[in-house]
Amino acid sequence: MCEVKKTSDQIINYGRYKNMKNIEVMETLRSSDNVIKAAYALIDEFTGKKKTGKLIATIRLFIDLYSRRLNGEKVTLKPIMDYLITWEMTGKMETMISLSTSCQENNFCKAYRKNKNFICKDCYAWKELNAYSTVRNKAKFSTLILCNVELLPCDIPMVNNRYFRFEAFGDLQTTIQFKNYNLFCIVNDFVNCTLWTKNPFIIEKALKEFDIAIPENFKIIYSIPELDRKITAAEKKAIIEKYPFIWYFFAVYSDNGMRKVDCGYICKMKCSDCNYFCYKHEAPQGTLIQEIKKGNENK
Ligand code: SF4
Ligand code: SF4
Repeated sequence: MCEVKKTSDQIINYGRYKNMKNIEVMETLRSSDNVIKAAYALIDEFTGKKKTGKLIATIRLFIDLYSRRLNGEKVTLKPIMDYLITWEMTGKMETMISLSTSCQENNFCKAYRKNKNFICKDCYAWKELNAYSTVRNKAKFSTLILCNVELLPCDIPMVNNRYFRFEAFGDLQTTIQFKNYNLFCIVNDFVNCTLWTKNPFIIEKALKEFDIAIPENFKIIYSIPELDRKITAAEKKAIIEKYPFIWYFFAVYSDNGMRKVDCGYICKMKCSDCNYFCYKHEAPQGTLIQEIKKGNENK
């Protein structure tokens, strides 16, 4: 069973949660038989619900293709991956293309939401998933695939866009998930890909477990869990020393909190309005990007 590294007290909040069960569950699910069983369970769950026809058909297709692959046939899971990519984001991420799991299927997210100091308690993605059952159900299937199935280069769709986002509705929870994202970036080496995460310890583990390197076009943004966290230069330095793959820091502030903090860049609340700052990867490593908490921006 995997063991997640404990973090230093000097380094801000990741690792303060106690509930590590999720990664153990997901590690168990890695068994191919369990993935197929879980896919059948999703079909049972979604049958009879509105607007799940295409999703159920895609899950059936996945079971067929994946079973054949396990039996030694050379088949691609690309039709499944094509389906999982979200081509039409709305709101802040309008015009973005993304691939994401579900925060509601992630026990790290569930644990973080219980921490009253964390931004997770007001998680925007969580609310979106509650509001839109189509997105929620698809994200649940996406979690099963991306976190448990080791994709091959032939499974990865080519993305006809300059920028790409990982995790619009969730966060990392398994090393396979990170390996899959890394492979996606290697295949799409002309696309600037960006992952926001509060769980850099999973990346650290994945790099060792699979002996992989992160390509130049893939940048990781450390999403600071706490609202109004005034991160110091020394803390950023310590984090980058521990996790050298972190490129930017992203923090959310209420109005008052924001005034107290030295700033690298202010989030424009719509990626197309700031010319995709986070995705361009042009600012120096360690740059802090500040977002005003949603709902406060007009106060
Ligand atoms: S880690 Fe991100 S996706 Fe998960 S609950 Fe927190 S804000 Fe939401
Ligand atoms: S800073 Fe710009 S690119 Fe980054 S999240 Fe905010 S709006 Fe999007």
